[in-house]
Amino acid sequence: MGGMALRALATRLFLLALAVSSGLAQAAAAEERRTEISALTARIEPLPDRSRLLFDLTGLPPVTAYPVANPPRIIVDLPLVLFRLEANAGLSPGDKLIKSYRYGIFAPGRSRVVIDLTGPAKILKADSEVAPGGPRLVIELAPTSAAYFAATAAEEARRQPADPAPTLPPVAAKLSTDKPMVVIDPGHGGLDMGATGKHGELEKDVVLEFARALRQKIEAGGRARVLLTRDHDMFLPLAERVRIARENNASLFVSVHADTLAAAHVEGATVYTVSERASDAEAARMAEKENLADQAAGLESKADAGEVGDILFELTRRETRSYSRQFSHSLISFWKEVGAINKNPNRSAGFVVLKAFDVPSVLLELGYLSSDKDLARLTSQEWRERAAQKTAEAVDAFISERSREARAPAADSSGAARPQ
Ligand SMILES: [Zn+2]
Repeated sequence: MGGMALRALATRLFLLALAVSSGLAQAAAAEERRTEISALTARIEPLPDRSRLLFDLTGLPPVTAYPVANPPRIIVDLPLVLFRLEANAGLSPGDKLIKSYRYGIFAPGRSRVVIDLTGPAKILKADSEVAPGGPRLVIELAPTSAAYFAATAAEEARRQPADPAPTLPPVAAKLSTDKPMVVIDPGHGGLDMGATGKHGELEKDVVLEFARALRQKIEAGGRARVLLTRDHDMFLPLAERVRIARENNASLFVSVHADTLAAAHVEGATVYTVSERASDAEAARMAEKENLADQAAGLESKADAGEVGDILFELTRRETRSYSRQFSHSLISFWKEVGAINKNPNRSAGFVVLKAFDVPSVLLELGYLSSDKDLARLTSQEWRERAAQKTAEAVDAFISERSREARAPAADSSGAARPQ
């Protein structure tokens, strides 16, 4: 006797503890929501001796600011701050020292402002403070000598960790299936907006919507699993995108972009593969621009890891590139059915994001935000569904062809995946 009562009491205490702790978790979550800081407006106040950049905030976050060289920038690191203002408000602020500025989520729980400078500047102030109008972020910069800027930037580079972007939580739960994995990589994200359309359309948003539609179409086909390198508006370094493809043993990597050109009549989709030498000047320009994505978020561009000399590595890379080209040609022939193909649709250049030596990789430029026709297509859900469907069919054809080859390795391995 008594044992039952004790067990009942223990159970009741356990349930009570559960209730208390889940109540605490809810309270903590509510507290977090309450203390979540937003930035509501941004503006520049030109003063005689300095440039002042102000953001009106809803709270007072800790602020860390430092200079970065080549090109000269000021990085302002913050905890999670939600920028509830136009994404392109800082594109041309018309200040003599601040050329432009960007802001947004940089990594989980972290936001960042990147200020592009017209010349060397020193940080007079970078802090959050309570002003008569409420809390605000204040960054004050003044011109300085090139030598002083270079010295402080070099000192910061030594102090900052080599790769300031923390590793991300990729990788959907490993499924118990042997279906091949396709990794779709929506370009840009967070404070790296990519190209912009004339009515404020942002490449980072257009490509994310397309990537989600493509995921849905591929999954509906049932031949492959799909992983997006990013599924929200978040910055992701180029190397991280490649790492996600390799670590998930991807059978195919498709990076999705949408460019702009000064020539507004140029339109249509282009598929790029990686090559040492660019196929043409336009491809070289594109690769150069896309390879600057890390820089847009304030990361230093890194030189290529020198993976040379190993014969197995070379053979794998050669084979991977041949598969990438096969898929590139196949994808274009599928896209012809949705119309809107660039005059020269298969190109190549030294894209960093396509450099996984063992994962067939292409970069799909959906079209040009600078072309009215492309812009109408890219922002139409109906077009997006059809284009994603055709892309998914090309992916399915490629995957089927590869698994056929894997089952019969002696058979002809030159067959590209082609529409039936
Ligand atoms: Zn892009």
